Amino acid sequence: MAKRPFISARLRQTVGRRARYLCEYCRLQQELCPEPFEIEHIIPRALDGPTEADNLCLACPVCNNAKRHRISANDPMSGRRVRLYHPRLQEWDEHFRWSDDFGAIVGQTPVGRATVAALQMNHPRVVQIRLLWAALGLHPPR
Ligand SMILES: [Zn+2]
Repeated sequence: MAKRPFISARLRQTVGRRARYLCEYCRLQQELCPEPFEIEHIIPRALDGPTEADNLCLACPVCNNAKRHRISANDPMSGRRVRLYHPRLQEWDEHFRWSDDFGAIVGQTPVGRATVAALQMNHPRVVQIRLLWAALGLHPPR
């Protein structure tokens, strides 16, 4: 396994603050998660993605583990291979929206649908937790 790259405390802080401490894929709030969020390489290091702010995003452990070294996945509607959502180049609201009860993330484009599926953003346990948070007024994030 490749050695983790050094990411300075300052760069971590820049990435976290820029993301408003939300996972840039599923919008999980860092303050609601017992595990620390990770600094994710959007283009993985295995594909020569640099450790620079433009290639980094804040990701919850679930999204980070599910994404791994991928940059593309199949759109479940068309079956076509498409690029995964790129938090630095694309707008979340263009590709995703919340379901009416805020439990699920709905992919609105091929990129959104492929990313929801690949990152398992609607795992039943996660949906259940979002519904609970929504009932408590803690979700969705503002
Ligand atoms: Zn996430």
